[in-house]
Amino acid sequence: MTTTHDFWLAGRRESGPEAFEVHHPWDGSLVGRVSVPTEEQVEEAIAAAVAVQDAYSATPAHVRAAALDHVSKRLVERTEELARLVTAENGKPIKWARGEIGRAASVFRWAAEEARRFNSGEAQRLDTDAGGAGRLALTRRFPRGVVLGIAPFNFPLNLVAHKVAPAIAVGTPIILKPAPATPISALVLGEILAETDLPAGSWSVLPVPNDRMPALVRDERLPVISFTGSGPVGWGILDSAPRKHVTLELGGNAAAVVLADWSSEEDLEWAATRIATFANYQGGQSCISVQRVIADAAVYDRLAAKVVAKVQTQVTGDPSDDAVDVGPLVSEDAAKRVESWVDEAVAAGARLLAGGKREGASYAPTVLADLPAGVTLSCEEVFGPVLSLHRVEGAEEAFATVNDSPYGLQAGVFTHDLQTAFRAHRELEVGGVIVGDVPSYRADQMPYGGAKQSGVGREGVKYAMDDYTYERVLVLTGL
Ligand code: NAD
Repeated sequence: MTTTHDFWLAGRRESGPEAFEVHHPWDGSLVGRVSVPTEEQVEEAIAAAVAVQDAYSATPAHVRAAALDHVSKRLVERTEELARLVTAENGKPIKWARGEIGRAASVFRWAAEEARRFNSGEAQRLDTDAGGAGRLALTRRFPRGVVLGIAPFNFPLNLVAHKVAPAIAVGTPIILKPAPATPISALVLGEILAETDLPAGSWSVLPVPNDRMPALVRDERLPVISFTGSGPVGWGILDSAPRKHVTLELGGNAAAVVLADWSSEEDLEWAATRIATFANYQGGQSCISVQRVIADAAVYDRLAAKVVAKVQTQVTGDPSDDAVDVGPLVSEDAAKRVESWVDEAVAAGARLLAGGKREGASYAPTVLADLPAGVTLSCEEVFGPVLSLHRVEGAEEAFATVNDSPYGLQAGVFTHDLQTAFRAHRELEVGGVIVGDVPSYRADQMPYGGAKQSGVGREGVKYAMDDYTYERVLVLTGL
C-alpha cells in the first residue's frame, strides 16, 4: 500500500479530503500520495501563525538555536533515507541527493549560529549635531510578519531549508509551500520540526495547489514572500503583491568564462572537469548550472575537446545507482521541451558536438557550438543538460558576452590574474562572481541571488534573516 503523506498545519499532522500523487521521474513509479489542505485548513494555519507571532519573536535566541541544532543533527542522522526520497521525487542522482541533505543540515547549523549572534544591535551617538545633544539611538531588528515561503522542485530539501531555517532563527512564523513534484521531502522535514519545542503555530507545511496560490500571495496577513522558482511565476507574484516584502530567486543561463591565461594542461583539465560536471549534475536543473562556456580563442579548441570528451563519459541512467552522474529530468514534458530547443538550435545552424538524444524523461548530456543568436537556447534558461560553447577574443568580449543576457545570477571566471578578477567583479552584471571555478559554486552561508531577470533580494542564512526583519530604532533622550 502506498503511503498518503499528511501535511503539517500549525505544527501538527493533518489531512484533507483530497490527495495528489508524486511519481518517480526515472520509471514513473508512485512515490507517494500527498494530502491537500482545504481552504479552511489553510485559513487555520494562517490564523495560528498570526496569533503566535508576537510571543514567538520574544522567545529566547538560545531556545530557537537549540531547535535549529536539533534539526541539523536529525537531518544528518536521516541522510540516507532522505537522500533516497529526494532521488525518488526529483530524479537527481543519489550521490548528489546525499550532498543536498548535507547542505540542508549545514543551513540549519548556520542558522543556529546566526540566531545566537543576531540582533545584538548597535548604539549610535546623536550628539554629533547640536539637536542631538543628550540623545542616543539604539537599533534592533524585528520580524516583518508571517513569511510565505514558496519552494521549487530542483532542491526539494535544501531550498526549503533556506526558507525555514532563517525564519526560526529570527523567530517569525512561516507557511511553507513545497513544489507539487517534490513535496514529500518537505513533509518529512516537518516530522523533524515536530520533534522540537517550537510553538505550534510557528510553522506549517502546506502543499497548496497552484491555482489557490494567488489568494495566499495577496493575503495581507502574510507580508513577506520568499519565492524560489521560475521567472514568470515570480514576477507575477511581485506584480500582484507590490506592497509586500518579496524576494525572488529566479532562473539564469549561467556562464563559465575561460580566459587566455588559464592555459596549462592542469588548468584546462580542471576547468573542463568542473564545466562538464556542473552543466549536467542534476540534469542541468540548477539555476546556476553552466549553460554557456565563453572561452578565449587561445584556449578554446583544447578546452572544447576536453569538455566534449568528459561529457561523453558521464554515466547516465537510474539515479538510485551510485555510479550514475546524470539522471532523468523532472518529467518527460521537461525533457521534450529541452529536445525541442536543441532541435531548433541545430536547425538554425548550431553544431552538435555531443548528446542531442532523448529517451523518456532522460536527455543525453549535450554540447553545442556556433549557437546562432536569436534561437531560444541563446537567451532563455534551458534547465536541462545542455551546454553551448562560445569563442571570444579577450576579457572585454568575454565579459560583454556574459552580460548579453536577460539574466544575471552567477558567473564563473577562470583566470589567474587578480586585476582581471577584480574587473570581473566590477563589470559582470550578476549576483556572484566565482573566480577559478564554475558559476555553480554556492556556499549556503554566502549571499546568493540575482541581478536583472534573475530576481531581487538575497538568500544565504544571514541575508534571509535580514529580509525577514526590519530595523527599528529607539532614540533615548536626556542622557
Ligand atoms: P515554478 O515557478 O514552476 O514553481 C515554483 C513554486 O511556485 C512551486 O512551489 C509552485 O507550486 C509555485 N507556484 C506555481 N504557481 C504559483 C502561483 N501562481 N503563485 C504562487 N506560487 C506558485 O518553478 P520550478 O519549476 O519549481 O523551479 C524551477 C525554476 O526555479 C527555474 O527557473 C530555476 O532557475 C529556478 N530556481 C532558482 C533558484 C535561485 O535560487 N535563484 C534556485 C532553484 C531554482
